[in-house]
Amino acid sequence: MKLNGTSSNTPSISQPTTGSHQNGHTPDSHQADSTGVSAWETDELVDEIGDAHGASSIDTPMRPDAFAIDDDLKIDLIEEHFREIMGILGLDLTDDSLKGSPRRVAKMYVNEIFSGLNPANKPKPTLFDNKFRYNEMLVEKDITVQTYCEHHFVPIIGKAHVAYISSGKVIGLSKLNRVVEYFSKRPQVQERLTVQIAEELKRVLETEDVAVIIDAKHLCVSTRGVHDINSSTITASYGGKFSEEATRQELLRYVAQPSVTI
Ligand SMILES: [Zn+2]
Repeated sequence: MKLNGTSSNTPSISQPTTGSHQNGHTPDSHQADSTGVSAWETDELVDEIGDAHGASSIDTPMRPDAFAIDDDLKIDLIEEHFREIMGILGLDLTDDSLKGSPRRVAKMYVNEIFSGLNPANKPKPTLFDNKFRYNEMLVEKDITVQTYCEHHFVPIIGKAHVAYISSGKVIGLSKLNRVVEYFSKRPQVQERLTVQIAEELKRVLETEDVAVIIDAKHLCVSTRGVHDINSSTITASYGGKFSEEATRQELLRYVAQPSVTI
């Protein structure tokens, strides 16, 4: 498949001929390309944005035409472009070990690790009446989080603790894990992931009484840059009654307890 002219809906990406600016951009042309990044943004500024890890919005920034092409075409296009990236790096794509990598990466992006970009994949939690009249907090702790830093496209791995107080409806326990998983399968910043999970649970459970805590290690911090393998990042969202000190402390006590082993 040709890179250029495949679809008017796909970003125009210059042919990666080394040493030339096929799209006419020079480093100081002050012209934004199709990705919205201006050529004048220096490497230093780009690095700084990558380190800031601030979320600009609760919504994942998406192109208006994000789903104008289907998943099969996305896989084809990503395969083609990833093959070029590998080629630019100097890798021999005729090697038996490498030749399948572009397709593997493309399928992994679309079908697995970034499948949460597509709202069609959002879990549809089933709610039940709170027949047990359990009106205390419910905490689902140590939910595995595996997401990807949107600044470096390397993993963020950790745990989420999710809690809510029923307003009359209860949700299947595994659905809490599913909601965490869905929003994790996107390029993310941890702050946005935390808020997206919290807001979705508030919407589904029809209550503000939702809390989400995420404790995670960023591989962009541990395997590059400052190479700090020990630090982890904690983010939290406390809604409704969880913003009250006593309720918050109760939650934090539960989270601090050693997990049950079976
Ligand atoms: Zn990062």
